[in-house]
Amino acid sequence: MRKIPKANIIKMAKIKGKEHINHKGKFIEKCDIGRNCRCEQFKCNENINKETRVFLFEQFYDMKNKNEQDVRLSGLITLYEIKRRRSRVRNLEAAKPHSAR
Ligand SMILES: [Zn+2]
Repeated sequence: MRKIPKANIIKMAKIKGKEHINHKGKFIEKCDIGRNCRCEQFKCNENINKETRVFLFEQFYDMKNKNEQDVRLSGLITLYEIKRRRSRVRNLEAAKPHSAR
């Protein structure tokens, strides 16, 4: 039987949120589902109960590959208007999703 390449093991561990040793030899703990993210802006732990969070994470880690996960995430991300625009920021206008029309 052929050995699974190390890169593939890391890739799968990341998709599944499992503990693994990354490319730099650093130990990455498994994703702790339901842990408080402590974000000020969304107060996830107050707004979304643990059962829902666990359900969402399990769905996410059940996906077969990173591409599926990326598609899922990009569907959830909302771009917020930047309040104080600097002139450089204007170039980002073109990068907005076209569905926002
Ligand atoms: Zn949060």
